[in-house]
Amino acid sequence: MDALDAKYPFFAPAREAVADAAVSLPELVAADAPAVERGRERVERALMDGTVASESGSFPDDSDYDVQAELLSYPIARILVSLLDSEPAIEKYAAAEAATAVDRIREDLAADDELRSVSAPTVDLGDVLAEFDLADAVRPEAPGGGPAAIGAGGAGGAGAGSAGASARGRTPDHYWIDVGSYLGLTSPSWGPSWRLVNRALADGAVRVSREELLDALEAAVEARVREGLPFELAAGEGIAGELEDGVADLKRLLSERSYAGPADVVAPELFPPCMTNLIEKAERDVDLSPPESFALMSFLVGIGMTPDEVVAFCADTSLDAEGIRYQTEYLKDDRGTQYPPPTCETLANYGICHNEDDHMQVAVDPLAYYEKRVETADEITDWREREDGGTAEDEEGAGEVEGESESGTE
Ligand code: SF4
Repeated sequence: MDALDAKYPFFAPAREAVADAAVSLPELVAADAPAVERGRERVERALMDGTVASESGSFPDDSDYDVQAELLSYPIARILVSLLDSEPAIEKYAAAEAATAVDRIREDLAADDELRSVSAPTVDLGDVLAEFDLADAVRPEAPGGGPAAIGAGGAGGAGAGSAGASARGRTPDHYWIDVGSYLGLTSPSWGPSWRLVNRALADGAVRVSREELLDALEAAVEARVREGLPFELAAGEGIAGELEDGVADLKRLLSERSYAGPADVVAPELFPPCMTNLIEKAERDVDLSPPESFALMSFLVGIGMTPDEVVAFCADTSLDAEGIRYQTEYLKDDRGTQYPPPTCETLANYGICHNEDDHMQVAVDPLAYYEKRVETADEITDWREREDGGTAEDEEGAGEVEGESESGTE
């Protein structure tokens, strides 16, 4: 195992290095090895700060942790986040791993641009693309524009800094991704600029900036980290038992984190489109996927609804009362844990957000968007105070909001 494996522990060589080292994770945990504390920090930082970088300093130069601790902290973090038993925690963790990885890739590319004047090991873009089987699908821009010819270096390996660049060590500003790979890596729900109709197309490839390519790779890393989570582990047994204290610490930290949601008012006609779409999908008796269900439940809990109110609101949908109670009570449990819904960006990655009217420009998450709409509405009758109570199905006509939406029909 080397420093590069530790920087990118979800890449295939790192996983092979862990397997080859034949390290026993239960023994590491039992011995309270540094990897265990670093794994706990990894999850804590992911959930609290959106990064998994160590507070002790950037790896490898300034960190308190050596290569082995840094690398093995990754599988331990995956076990810890599984034991938290929370879909939002897994989402946040995967997003934080991906964000940190792309920050490191960006730094590595900058080091590459400086002709590797640093001693720390770095990846080049070709390494990253090869990791996701994209070496042939992404080509740098040719000096005259358009994708470089296949075989002219590609974006892989040295090609990342050759074709389309002024010299080895200077990565191009633009790339061309084969259409099929572009559609697999990105989502039109990320915004109008990602839609194919708004993109330059040539030779079966789509033009992207270097930063846009990194955005797409971040989504690929997030999906890679998300794969296989959560692990199924028997609570209190084996490694799960050994990690109980660490898990308890993380749960306590989460419970102490107060989340200031928007005004405690339920106005379905002001819900953001992503939530309205999920409600309408459930009303058509279509099952929601786990991320969809958690997004909706965390939103409804986040705006101040009790489990009973959510059950009543979602009567006549595919969501069953028992499942709603389980999720909402977990979100509002006696540890005080409240997870806000995922960000708009995460919801876009899951295909839940379609960024209607480009309103991702004005909100970072559905609660923030709802709060803005509530603030600017002239008059709101809280759904809970409406005479017939109503359900999600009645939301169109259930209340009165002047200036924003049509008023009730009852
Ligand atoms: S931009 Fe945000 S609030 Fe709007 S639909 Fe998308 S996820 Fe929902």
